[in-house]
Amino acid sequence: MKYKMYSLYNFRNIPQLQNAPEEKLRAIEVVGNVLPFKTNDYVVNHLIDWDNFEQDPMFILNFPQREMLAPNHFERIASALVRNENRRDLTMLANSIRMELNPHPADQMKHNVPQIDGQKLSGLQHKYAETVLFFPSQGQTCHAYCTFCFRWPQFTGIDELRFAMRQADLLVEYLRRHPQVTDVLFTGGDPMVMGTQQLAHYLDALLKADLPQVKNIRIGSKSLTFWPYRFLTDPDADSTLRLFERVNRSGKSLAFMAHFNHPRELSTPQAQEAIRRIRDTGTLIRSQAPLMRHINDSPDVWRDLWLEQSRQGIIPYYMFVARDTGAQQYFAVPLVRAWEIFRDAYSQVSGISKTVRGPSMSAGPGKVHVLGVQEIQGKPYLLLNFLQARRADWVGRPFLAEYDPKAIWLDELRPAFGQASFFYEEEYKRIWKNEPTDPVEKNLIERICA
Ligand SMILES: *Cc1c(COP(=O)(O)O)cnc(C)c1O
Ligand code: SF4
Repeated sequence: MKYKMYSLYNFRNIPQLQNAPEEKLRAIEVVGNVLPFKTNDYVVNHLIDWDNFEQDPMFILNFPQREMLAPNHFERIASALVRNENRRDLTMLANSIRMELNPHPADQMKHNVPQIDGQKLSGLQHKYAETVLFFPSQGQTCHAYCTFCFRWPQFTGIDELRFAMRQADLLVEYLRRHPQVTDVLFTGGDPMVMGTQQLAHYLDALLKADLPQVKNIRIGSKSLTFWPYRFLTDPDADSTLRLFERVNRSGKSLAFMAHFNHPRELSTPQAQEAIRRIRDTGTLIRSQAPLMRHINDSPDVWRDLWLEQSRQGIIPYYMFVARDTGAQQYFAVPLVRAWEIFRDAYSQVSGISKTVRGPSMSAGPGKVHVLGVQEIQGKPYLLLNFLQARRADWVGRPFLAEYDPKAIWLDELRPAFGQASFFYEEEYKRIWKNEPTDPVEKNLIERICA
């Protein structure tokens, strides 16, 4: 199967769109100038339900929708297109809108960048003691782009040449100096856009380095959704699977961290065969995904997702809530509603699928689990708990926030009982202040699907 990409410049050729209303196509064009837009023939032919495409979650996952932009932003781009503005001006206008869409860019950009001997390692992110995130420079794109993802434009800024050559060596050197790290997580973009040779370059470097402290090598990927042929018929499919086997035989565990938003993604023969082939290499597949309005904001969808994952031998891992998306007002689900959806789905599955945790916010101080609404003397509160934290000591100490059914993120919550701050805040501010920052380090924004 040959990969055929569709983007802003050729999506009108998609056969299934031939009878679509012009207004719809125009909206894709307008919004696609601001938000990422890339899909491919597998998604188009096998995932999207074209009988009902305007409401279809798989269509919305890849195709820009008019409502993803505020009306005034939409109008500005639309009229620039009508005026046939030149490429440069259009890009400038799009960039200015993107800046407005990303409400907290400074929060997440510049932190957690590790160093060796004073040299910044911009392809690494080290936030939680036991896990290092590794961004291989050739893995900074995806087989298709999720419309809720605001990461990819930043990834393209990585200084590839400076970096690619020594990247594997630096990763190994960094791990030698940090014996507390047990997990290395390959992330992106999508590391599975790399061929076997590139993947092997990094994985072999890790294996050869003989680091007994490193137990788990994880690969974060949406390729099972966007291009399962990567494990079936692509020229590199078989050699990649043999590489996976080799990692597992080395005594480390290879964990494939899949990103599945909807059971449809698990329903095709292609995806099921790819999953089976990966599992046959001894690789564990875990699954995590953000909760998104218009895509998967219903308990039934999550129940079916977890049931189907378990049936196919995939371990449900995280449900995330997302704040920092480009089209936030379109996708946002309030924390209380997220918890209701989680709870409703979770209460309908057996213990096999209850490995999943959520809803969880990947916020600055850590991964914050919304445990639920608790009533104390007739008044509701939100009970929260760190699953991961900038200070390991914060983990597993449940804390309370004032009930707020509209809040969608940690920074909108207030400590319960009129307390001035949450227990971790003072220390967090201190960490924050003492950290070196560098506005150039754009690739370190936390990913929605990491
Ligand atoms: C989620 C995440 C990890 C991995 O956390 P686990 O709970 O071990 O899966 C590591 N680093 C960052 C920055 C993360 O957001
Ligand atoms: S959410 Fe993940 S798979 Fe989707 S576009 Fe972003 S990085 Fe790629």
